[in-house]
Amino acid sequence: MEKWRCVVCGYIYNPEIGDPESGIAPGVLFEELPDSWGCPECGAEKELFEICSEDDDYGIY
Ligand SMILES: [Zn+2]
Repeated sequence: MEKWRCVVCGYIYNPEIGDPESGIAPGVLFEELPDSWGCPECGAEKELFEICSEDDDYGIY
């Protein structure tokens, strides 16, 4: 599954984890997130996320 990164704050959306604090269950792909969903860290809209391929190593937080 593909991870997506918030270009504003660097938050990584990992579909294997989901976003429990926002009620997003594990296994929900980024594309399946509701339009109302935003970055849990900074509130950025989905449009401000870019795909984060496994080949890119941005480090582990
Ligand atoms: Zn963010």
